[in-house]
Amino acid sequence: MPTRLYRNGGLNCPKCAALIPWSLVDYRTIFQCNHCRASVWVSRQYLIRSAIAHVILAGVLCFAAGMRGFLLVPSAILLSFPLGFVTSFARRRIAPPPLEINEQLDE
Ligand SMILES: [Zn+2]
Repeated sequence: MPTRLYRNGGLNCPKCAALIPWSLVDYRTIFQCNHCRASVWVSRQYLIRSAIAHVILAGVLCFAAGMRGFLLVPSAILLSFPLGFVTSFARRRIAPPPLEINEQLDE
């Protein structure tokens, strides 16, 4: 049951190693660890690599579906968004995003 799994687990704080529940993890912005109040964020490199991997995967799927030429690039970019959403649950389990301490806000 996805809802139940979503509520369990989370990411470990890079400063105090406590578990930050998924409900507090924000991929878009800096957030605070609920234990030590360190300002943390999801690694930007992880997000960039993930986006690139999804565009490539979407490109392969579009190519396999018969798209060629100029239409392939915008189609791959557009398909990468729902593809990223679909794979997000599995990625959390297989390769959870690393958190980084925001040095500027945490001093
Ligand atoms: Zn912490």
